[in-house]
Amino acid sequence: MLSRAKEALPNELSSESRFVIPRVDILYEGKRTIWRNFAEIQQIIHRDASHFLPYILREIGTAGEQSGTRVIFQGIISKEQLQDRLNRYIDIYVICSVCKRPDTRLERRGRIIMLKCDACGAICPITRRKRR
Ligand SMILES: [Zn+2]
Repeated sequence: MLSRAKEALPNELSSESRFVIPRVDILYEGKRTIWRNFAEIQQIIHRDASHFLPYILREIGTAGEQSGTRVIFQGIISKEQLQDRLNRYIDIYVICSVCKRPDTRLERRGRIIMLKCDACGAICPITRRKRR
């Protein structure tokens, strides 16, 4: 038991370090914007594309769809604009407001979405209060 606890320690410590928000990687094809590392970021934040992508599209105010590991947006979207929406999404739907770690899950309770933290056990309703 003790050796198992010791083995688990490095992981424990690394998850203590501050979560680094992944950087978006985009390119332009004609009048479309390709979000190249969508799937990669989605894996890092552990969120369902069916929740994550509609939020981004709504916030940017454009149409777009997932194509394999990428997302194709209609129109030209700046990297800063996309990064800003991603940062907000992570702030609202990923980071625990109590311990600031990203080890969380979304849980729907009726009409309210709760952010459940696996690290500290906090359960907080998602509100718009964090919006800037
Ligand atoms: Zn927490």
